[in-house]
Amino acid sequence: MGVINMEHHWLPFTNNRLFREEPQMFARAEGVRYWTPEGDELLDGSSGLFCCAAGHGRREIADAVHKQLLELDYTTHFQRAAPVSFELATRVAELLPKGIDRIFFGSSGSEAVDSAIKICLAYHRARGQGQRTRFVSRAWAYHGVNLGGTSLAGMVNNRRDFSGVTCDVVHMRHTWTEEQRFSKGQPETGAELADDLEDICKTYGADTIAGVFVEPIAGSVGTIVPPQGYLQRLREIADKYGLLLIFDEVITGFGRTGSAFAAQEFGITPDIITMAKALTNGAVPMSAVAVKTEIQQAIIDAAEGDRPELFHGYTYSAHPVACAAAIASLDIYRDHGLFERAKAFSPTFLDQVFGLRNLAQVSDLRGYGMISGIQLKPSDKPGLKGSIVQRILFNEGLHVKATGDAIIFAPAFVTTEDELEQMTAILRKVLGRAD
Ligand code: PLP
Repeated sequence: MGVINMEHHWLPFTNNRLFREEPQMFARAEGVRYWTPEGDELLDGSSGLFCCAAGHGRREIADAVHKQLLELDYTTHFQRAAPVSFELATRVAELLPKGIDRIFFGSSGSEAVDSAIKICLAYHRARGQGQRTRFVSRAWAYHGVNLGGTSLAGMVNNRRDFSGVTCDVVHMRHTWTEEQRFSKGQPETGAELADDLEDICKTYGADTIAGVFVEPIAGSVGTIVPPQGYLQRLREIADKYGLLLIFDEVITGFGRTGSAFAAQEFGITPDIITMAKALTNGAVPMSAVAVKTEIQQAIIDAAEGDRPELFHGYTYSAHPVACAAAIASLDIYRDHGLFERAKAFSPTFLDQVFGLRNLAQVSDLRGYGMISGIQLKPSDKPGLKGSIVQRILFNEGLHVKATGDAIIFAPAFVTTEDELEQMTAILRKVLGRAD
């Protein structure tokens, strides 16, 4: 491979100077493996970025995309549509909790979140409660990087430089407590942290609040699993005060917890669910917002005349090629029973993760389904350990996502026991070092 000019591409969420000095690139992928341009093989310990639940290089998706490109490469969905988008919406609705069955498409998780914010505002306005403009989110939350998602963000680096553009959001506390250290699955303590929502309703006036956003499992901060009873309590308080409850399932959607959505896994029905990533197995950018029937109906009923009911949408909403990729992905999940596989494999996965407990660099372990967080002992510069370790792991043959002082280890659902052992062997080697 010739010399690559790296001057022009500004990499997202990356230290570009460091990257140029020591690039870590992938040129090819298949199954749970990546290959660098030099031909070195790495295992994929984070399903790409939690997208590739069925592994890389799925021919079924490639074929569906190829066929769709030749049949109908593009249509707008403003006053037009393609049959394939209705087919996909039906398929997605079938996977969702009953009653959450109106699907709005975008291209990224960030777009899904910002679309959900606007749908909440439009819903309250349609019902004569346009004063409900405030949102509640949570410390350590990640809801993408568009302006609404940045406002909801609870991770300081994602907010600090952008404070001038954010909207009105109040934050609850995050749900991690010292007591929960090394809890496998849902921690037993911490449900009362949901009462922060009630306190906020009382302090700010519930009738000023449109909705509350939570990731059922907070993924990007390093996998924080909700305490038993916590989500239930949020649901009760949201109902009591007339707030919409939004589950951001961009990571947890499509089997990551062992059920189609975390909503079903934890037995809580929110009002809105956002999703992306594994919707197309990561192959083509696509996201969706799913809302309860009555939310869409209220917005439709309130619209006058022939105007669009919701003045919102993207050039690439329901892009036909993305729809084709998503349908092919959902076929794979169904035909290969991959959500069931995730559930069945989870105990083995979590046992392997919790086997890292006594390593020199590990200060906490968390996990549920096929997602886990490995908290690292911080260096003298807190927040940087994850990226240091991530670079070392790459050189040892394992790709993972890192954030702050944590690693998010979440392999594809097709990972074999042998591949999982190879991944944890690399983790053990690197995290066992004292320095
Ligand atoms: N919401 C959650 C919960 C996420 O984890 C992410 C991305 O990781 C997003 C939103 C943003 O998705 P995207 O990067 O596709 O915009």
